[in-house]
Amino acid sequence: MVGGHGFDGVERRGLMFVLSSPSGAGKTTLSRLLIERVEGLSLSVSATTRPMRPGEVDGLDYAFVDKATFEAMVKRDELLEWATVFDNRYGTPRAPVEAALSAGRDVLFDIDWQGTQQLREKARADVVSVFILPPSAGDLEKRLHTRAQDSDDVIRGRMDRAAHELSHWAEYDYIVINQNVDEAFAEVRSILNAERLKRNRRTGLTAFVRELQRQLEK
Ligand code: 5GP
Repeated sequence: MVGGHGFDGVERRGLMFVLSSPSGAGKTTLSRLLIERVEGLSLSVSATTRPMRPGEVDGLDYAFVDKATFEAMVKRDELLEWATVFDNRYGTPRAPVEAALSAGRDVLFDIDWQGTQQLREKARADVVSVFILPPSAGDLEKRLHTRAQDSDDVIRGRMDRAAHELSHWAEYDYIVINQNVDEAFAEVRSILNAERLKRNRRTGLTAFVRELQRQLEK
């Protein structure tokens, strides 16, 4: 994908930074912290057919759309990936991702394993994936209850699904256990920092090193 300038002024390819986890493992909090505290990172806002939860904002948390609108987006190939989760559709609008990457920004995705597989198939070299694990099953259940946004039935459904989602952990590049949010954040941030420094992403390095050599040889 297209390159932009890193913070050291050397051109680099933007990367697609994916966070996945069973719901309740704290991924949404980690995403929010990343967006607030890390320079050069944009959040990909997904489209979804699921109903809005209390406190959510249309266009910020998700673009909330009806089924027909979602189908039309799929037909027009406007989604980079899409999947059905808990009987609802979720997908990543392509245009904002491409715009951010071509402006030299990295893009953060809060998507499930199905979406991660699709992104990896499309852009393997640009995808860095992190799977967030809860420290225990009890902790996961507690967080789902504290969140109090869902009915008991929905929570039970999410617990059942968590076991299934967990089975995809080995498809991810990195695993972070979210025992403590500050530590988990520091770990996720260090993954992003290291991936930004990878040689093969730093497309401007050849020119930069050549210039260094030229100056040294003077
Ligand atoms: P929730 O309804 O709790 O916001 O999200 C349910 C699940 O859908 C989460 O695992 C979340 O990561 C996933 N999800 C959200 N947006 C997308 C998307 O655009 N694509 C895919 N594949 N999954 C998504």
